[in-house]
Amino acid sequence: MNNKQIIGFDADDTLWENEVFFHQAQMKFIELHPHIKDPEEVIFQIEKENIKFYGYGIKGFILSLLEASVRFSNNQTNFQNIDKIIKTGKDMLAQTIQLLPEVEETLRHLSEHYMLIMITKGDLLDQQRKVEKSGLLKYFSSIEIVSEKDEQTYLEILQKNNISPKDFLMVGNSLKSDVLPVRNIGGTGIYIPHKLTWKHEEVDRTFNLERVVELKTISALKVWLKDQI
Ligand SMILES: [Mg+2]
Repeated sequence: MNNKQIIGFDADDTLWENEVFFHQAQMKFIELHPHIKDPEEVIFQIEKENIKFYGYGIKGFILSLLEASVRFSNNQTNFQNIDKIIKTGKDMLAQTIQLLPEVEETLRHLSEHYMLIMITKGDLLDQQRKVEKSGLLKYFSSIEIVSEKDEQTYLEILQKNNISPKDFLMVGNSLKSDVLPVRNIGGTGIYIPHKLTWKHEEVDRTFNLERVVELKTISALKVWLKDQI
């Protein structure tokens, strides 16, 4: 075991459920707006346009749903719908944390042998709330809440913590945000797919697989690390 190795973990849909709540909120929105054609695509396009204004997270998502509701209301905004969308957002922000299977045991074990860092993107206040409520804080040496997870962000985090990219592994459910940028700066990306992953995180699957590892579950990480000795 190379105990110089530092392991970074994504949080949403790697450590706890996240996308499922966005999915449920979107289904509610669709029920309230049966007149909008291809509502999933409408919402996705508005969200995508708005990332540059709001960043990632629930608040930006709710603002995008409100925008979709107003934009497609034919100048007859239904205030009950507006009220329901706002309520949906507040429910999402108060949602209890649902850890994914085997997360806690895996982190407990790994934290005894490696330095662990949580690296998550999204709304600062909401991500802090989730980290605190998750009960997982004790397993991590540091928590990084960032607005984008690209090569530059990872380089800055590694530099700040005095970590060489070759000693860094990043675990997550997004090839675009967790795996490929880390591999591209000389680290190893460990991809653990989640059945629901936001369309914005999808990438063309033609990348080369050097230092990209796919595991089925988070607990498989222990076994994989042991095999690397
Ligand atoms: Mg994620």
